[in-house]
Amino acid sequence: MAAGVWRQMWEQGLHLGLIPASADARLQQRAAQLLQLAQGAAPAQALLGDNRELWQQFERALAQERGTVDGMLELFSMLVSHVSEVFAGDSAAAAEFGTLQEVCGRPLDGSRIDLARSVMEPWLRRQAALQRSALEARATSREVVGAVLRGIGTFLDHNGRFNQSLQQDLGRLDSGLDEQALKLLARELLQRGSDLHEHGSQLGQSLQQAQKQAEMALHRIRRLESELEQASQQLQQDPLTGALNRRGLDVAFMRDSARASEQQRPLSVALLDLDHFKQINDSYGHDFGDEVLRGLVQVARKLVRPGDSIARMGGEEFMMLFPDTDADAAQRAMERLLQGFRNRRVLHRSTGQRVEMSFSAGVAQMQAGEPFGELYERADTALRKAKQGGRQQVVLAPPEGGA
Ligand code: GH3
Ligand code: MG
Ligand code: MG
Repeated sequence: MAAGVWRQMWEQGLHLGLIPASADARLQQRAAQLLQLAQGAAPAQALLGDNRELWQQFERALAQERGTVDGMLELFSMLVSHVSEVFAGDSAAAAEFGTLQEVCGRPLDGSRIDLARSVMEPWLRRQAALQRSALEARATSREVVGAVLRGIGTFLDHNGRFNQSLQQDLGRLDSGLDEQALKLLARELLQRGSDLHEHGSQLGQSLQQAQKQAEMALHRIRRLESELEQASQQLQQDPLTGALNRRGLDVAFMRDSARASEQQRPLSVALLDLDHFKQINDSYGHDFGDEVLRGLVQVARKLVRPGDSIARMGGEEFMMLFPDTDADAAQRAMERLLQGFRNRRVLHRSTGQRVEMSFSAGVAQMQAGEPFGELYERADTALRKAKQGGRQQVVLAPPEGGA
């Protein structure tokens, strides 16, 4: 009985990964000894006592590890919010950081941590670049402010001296001056007034110059900002078709799958591959082939919901993500897209021919906790069935473990 309980707990321990997770060699050794004891004929009472002690040790070790993971998550979350503040106003960045923050808020597994890290890395690198440009901008602003202050300083200094001599002159006036002396004083005042005017216009010039410098700095910062915005979009985009690239797909899948699990809503994907595309290229040329690829993305954008995504996996293979959509509805959406794509009939300019094209697709609905790789495999198997079944059709993948 005691040995049975012990084995149960032992299995549970193994299941939770306590032994592999424990970095403490003494704990591991102790566990191995206990396992030997249990397999032999150790007195049940002794076994239970030993086991309780080992279990407590494991729990302490586990609690420590949990603390570390929680701490790391907290740190990571702080880092994300810090970096996202730096990129405030960059819409592509905002989307990625929003996803990351959502991911930080729930228990992470290894693959999510890896994905999150790979998303963060380029942003951190760009943050460093942005910081350099911010330093440059700050140095320029400092120069501008310095120039203005110096100008105002000189102006005030002259003004002060003017006032001072004006006071003296007024004093001289009070003490009574003859006509000659008054004339002299008037000339002097006029002279000083025009000096002051000159200083005023010098100040005006230096202010204008400072303004120009400030405008140039602002212009440079705006240009840098728009370059950064563009770079962050390009990072996720296939340059030929404008669809998401693999990286963009990773980010979109991370977002959609996290939401699907959290809200317990379905998420379906479709893998599609153009039919006889090599023949199209061979008959009408590579440029025409490229146009067909762009056309497919355009039609897809028109025919699917705004929250759906399309990504180019490479060559003439694309993946679509349908959040909040079960497999049957995704299949219907793909059939609509197939119809739309076939109806398009792209005009081949030099021959005037209208070329009809089609694709084959496999649709799979994500199972609870299913990693991307497995979901992709199921969609790919369904796609191959669609090709084997005569192409231009959409095949539904059975659930994992199904027929
Ligand atoms: P299937 O119906 O079995 O899919 O036949 P297929 O001819 O489409 O398949 P295959 O994989 O043999 O050919 C894919 C072709 O796609 C070959 C390659 O020249 C073409 N391709 C891949 N990338 C591009 C691209 O960026 N532009 C163009 N124009 N063609 C491309
Ligand atoms: Mg093909
Ligand atoms: Mg292919």
